Amino acid sequence: MKIILANPRGFCAGVNMAIESLERALQLFGAPLYVYHEIVHNRPIVEKFTALGVVFVNEIAEVPNGATVLYSAHGVSPEIREHSRSRNLRAIDATCPLVTKVHMEAVKFAREGYTIVLVGHEGHDEVLGTMGEAPGHMVLVEDADDVAKLDLPADAKLAFLTQTTLSVDEAKVVIEALRQKYPQIVGPNKDDICYATQNRQEAVRDLVPEADVVLVLGSRNSSNSQRLAEIAKGTGRAAYLIDRASELQPAWFKPTDTVLVTAGASAPEEHVQACVDRLRSEFGAEVESRVVREEHVSFPLPRELRVLL
Ligand code: SF4
Repeated sequence: MKIILANPRGFCAGVNMAIESLERALQLFGAPLYVYHEIVHNRPIVEKFTALGVVFVNEIAEVPNGATVLYSAHGVSPEIREHSRSRNLRAIDATCPLVTKVHMEAVKFAREGYTIVLVGHEGHDEVLGTMGEAPGHMVLVEDADDVAKLDLPADAKLAFLTQTTLSVDEAKVVIEALRQKYPQIVGPNKDDICYATQNRQEAVRDLVPEADVVLVLGSRNSSNSQRLAEIAKGTGRAAYLIDRASELQPAWFKPTDTVLVTAGASAPEEHVQACVDRLRSEFGAEVESRVVREEHVSFPLPRELRVLL
């Protein structure tokens, strides 16, 4: 068996920053510490922090008055910020700057009188936060079918934005459908899909022709991890999205397979290595690391923490 380890894979700059923020906040303020939504969409990480006394909440009302709350990498709407203020919470904002950039674009377009079409997945934390920046000015579409169903005036003043973790190829189709139906629509110079999402997808696309099976480390509610598995499946190969090595099933592999291993932007490297170790010991796999693109991106900790460190 041969393992091809895709690079880049795993943690992106936004996830690194969010996790370090939570670690530092725990050191500074101790437990219990509250986080609005999952800090990142990864089960092992959420379980690890839960064991350390972090309480993940879906409503600000669940946080006791005056306590500390950290906003996740996916961002929050102004309404959530206001709710925290009204409860005297100490808020630490670990929103990824690339999500904040989309929020700012939404505010700008809304102020200029545009109706904004957001391309994204309904119910995703990031989509909820972005839509909350311009309530009443935004509609959500998930795919080209939704674009066909859009009932906006043909000459409406329109702009589009996208979620940061979409499939690059699928987003192109939806944006093209929008441009066809509403030629006047404006948008960001490029879509808002972030560098980390694009690079991880590019690595899978480039390396998958050499593989028989694809293993993606990441959680089912992680949008960018799901997209990696979909890209692999789209080539007709078996692709498995798993959180940890214990979920790996030997029946998925033949001893002569080439296995492409990658990880979503929120999946810890230790679980990648645990899978590699299992495939080494059970199938005698040899590992080849392949770099499709270099990444040198990092984000500073939230200001609320920087002033205290
Ligand atoms: S996947 Fe992209 S947008 Fe999301 S946290 Fe990472 S860098 Fe930021």
